[in-house]
Amino acid sequence: MPARRAPKQEPIANRLLAALPRKSYLQLASGLVPVELAFGEVLYEPGEPIRDVYFPGRSLVSLLTLVEGHLALEVGLVGHEGMVGLPLALGVECSPVRALVQGAGPALRMSAPRLRKELAASPPLQRELHRYAQALMTQISQTAACNRFHVVGARLARWLLMTRDRVRAKEFRMTHEFLSHMLGVRRVGVTEAALVLQRANLIEYSRGNIRILDGRGLEAACCSCYESVRDMHEGAASGAAIP
Ligand SMILES: [Zn+2]
Repeated sequence: MPARRAPKQEPIANRLLAALPRKSYLQLASGLVPVELAFGEVLYEPGEPIRDVYFPGRSLVSLLTLVEGHLALEVGLVGHEGMVGLPLALGVECSPVRALVQGAGPALRMSAPRLRKELAASPPLQRELHRYAQALMTQISQTAACNRFHVVGARLARWLLMTRDRVRAKEFRMTHEFLSHMLGVRRVGVTEAALVLQRANLIEYSRGNIRILDGRGLEAACCSCYESVRDMHEGAASGAAIP
């Protein structure tokens, strides 16, 4: 009788978790609950307690800062490279931002008490979350500068590339309303910027679906912020920041 093969290990979709030593990952695995995040779902509102954290797989979560309670602007994007609910890992109980699911898909959820317990016991988890905190801070600062200095078309191209990298797909759902929050411009501004990219055959945009036709062309059309943030996240994921 042929020997039975050991069951194949599923690859860990979240890169922050995948970067942990196997032993550390197994330690916290029983606290991770697979969930499906739905498009438009709000995980936290500003000032509300963080009850759970999320490690996205192919899902994507946008961090929005609210001004005067209703004007929302995206300040960060969290995908498979990170964790939603980072303040908790830094000892803060409440979210300063709205966390809005922008790309539906799987994620792993962990309760706040369990995360605190695991953090206290696991230096590798502390190290990965600190690295990620630094990478996210860079992304947020770069986004602030980008919103001030770069034109809408280049920002839209950057945002599309960042989304593509995180959901690992060239096609995704997106409405004008969402995009206007992401880019901090009125819907008419989004329409104009998207039209320019469509006329250049870089994207196709119809009925709330965006398809990237020419990734290299889009990279040429976007601002340098895309590359700066990508390099910082790559460095954080590979541990390049610490020799
Ligand atoms: Zn920029």
